[in-house]
Amino acid sequence: MSEAEYFRLCTTCKRPIGFATDYLQCSVSTCNRNKLAQFFCTLACWDAHLPEARHRDAWAEPMKAPTREAFRREQQEEQERDARSSARESRESAMTDEADKRRRIVGAPASPQDLPEEVLIVVSKLKAYVKARSGMNTSDGVVDVLSTKIRRLCDAAIEVAQADGRKTLMDRDFK
Ligand SMILES: [Zn+2]
Ligand SMILES: [Zn+2]
Repeated sequence: MSEAEYFRLCTTCKRPIGFATDYLQCSVSTCNRNKLAQFFCTLACWDAHLPEARHRDAWAEPMKAPTREAFRREQQEEQERDARSSARESRESAMTDEADKRRRIVGAPASPQDLPEEVLIVVSKLKAYVKARSGMNTSDGVVDVLSTKIRRLCDAAIEVAQADGRKTLMDRDFK
């Protein structure tokens, strides 16, 4: 990455705001949100954003730009944070891919902990049943609990079918 030459560009006039120099920020929080944050080199530039922003009550807040050193450190930390979170994401998707692959290969079983904890029941039908049977609503957590129970029942039945030397799970495998 090339070294930054300045801290930010002025939102209005696009002139660079240098490191360790004074600049202005709008007092309204929506003008300072992360990626959309606005920076102004002079009061005139801050004034210029007012007609469009239509703030009810706003003033310009004097700020001091960080030094080049501090700025670089901040950026580095941000990059490391990003790198960590994208590494976590790719690890998670790699795990799902791996489980998918194994499911596609016949006879290559995935162990239960490799498989995503998916919902195995038709939620709308479950809720309709509970409603019709009792008038009760069903909370979302119930869906996970039942899916886990179904996984357990299938795991046990799979063992019965395997002991029987079969490749097909059958109703009689569920005791
Ligand atoms: Zn400006
Ligand atoms: Zn503003």
